[in-house]
Amino acid sequence: MSALTAPPPIQNAPAERIAGPVLHVDLDAIVQNHRALRRAAPTATVAAVVKADSYGIGAEPVARRLLAEGGGPFFVATFGEAVALRRALGAAPEILILNGVLAEDFAACQALALTPVLNSLAQAKAWAASGVRERRKAVLQVDTGMSRLGLSEAEQAQLLATPGLLAQLDLGLIMSHLAVADEPDHPGNAAQWQAFQSARERFPGVPASLANSAGLFLGSDFHFDLCRPGAALYGIEAGPRMSGIRPVLRLTAPVIQIRTIERDTAVGYGYSFRASRMMRLATVGVGYADGWPRRLAESGGAYFGDRRLPIIGRVSMDSFSVDISALPGDALKEGDRLELIGPHQSADDVARAAGTIGYEILTSFGERHHKIYSGQSLS
Ligand SMILES: *Cc1c(COP(=O)(O)O)cnc(C)c1O
Repeated sequence: MSALTAPPPIQNAPAERIAGPVLHVDLDAIVQNHRALRRAAPTATVAAVVKADSYGIGAEPVARRLLAEGGGPFFVATFGEAVALRRALGAAPEILILNGVLAEDFAACQALALTPVLNSLAQAKAWAASGVRERRKAVLQVDTGMSRLGLSEAEQAQLLATPGLLAQLDLGLIMSHLAVADEPDHPGNAAQWQAFQSARERFPGVPASLANSAGLFLGSDFHFDLCRPGAALYGIEAGPRMSGIRPVLRLTAPVIQIRTIERDTAVGYGYSFRASRMMRLATVGVGYADGWPRRLAESGGAYFGDRRLPIIGRVSMDSFSVDISALPGDALKEGDRLELIGPHQSADDVARAAGTIGYEILTSFGERHHKIYSGQSLS
């Protein structure tokens, strides 16, 4: 048996060639969006929601850059996200945990200076009973109609009726979340605003926060002391009134094969597409494992220059096919990259074609996306 020979060294293959899909994130554009939001809500602090890895595009580089520009506080969803962000950002910025934490993690929150949002009466009581409250102001969420997180009116009354509890809590913020802010004319907005006002009257003098991205664009009545945009920072559509927000992302994927098929040839899983004529196809190296929706089979496309190339057949886990018959014969070759998200089609366009929202497209991006950041902060 022959000895194994050493493999040839990898000749500095660029990460984007190894990865396949490449996500370009324009951090300068995120900073511009943050400025636009601050201009739209000039009397409030404009925080940054960086949960779910900044909606899939990278919490660490995004938060670092915003921090370097004087941004913050930062909101994440989970305790784990908060711990990772604290390690990345150092001691300075305030980090709040929207989903709250279990009482057994209060001490760790104290050690890392993380602020859990208290979402129920039980959590508020546990916080007040823990030693932590002596050094950190509490953040209380009240429910104003979404029935997701936060104290109901009855629980708020119970909190106030519990002797000493409010004083022990030392509230630094009361917050709530809007369910229909992306529908400005929906009566739910006014109803939630009114319920929030009532809650503010129960906790007088405490700074308040109600608006996410879409809520911020509902107008100054919704700004209070702190706004919590996520989507708008990342250029995702957040309601019809959003303005001044620029795109942040470009997603490309490589052509991994080009082929010509005869009439009556089937393409992809399930043979769901059958050619009615001779066609030229390109197989593109991205699939539903990368968050490229399987539902795009009937309606999606990719761009080569200005030319839209319609998706043919089902989207596979790691690839899909596009019809390139309309391109000149030698226009496209293996290794060329197609635009999946960019100037010709936004994440929201892709979302519409797949029957979902831009938020879900971004947060579905997988680990295989090689991310390239422009305007990265060196600090
Ligand atoms: C996710 C979230 C936000 C940010 O919402 P966007 O629509 O992305 O601006 C704000 N507040 C809470 C409580 C959230 O869960």
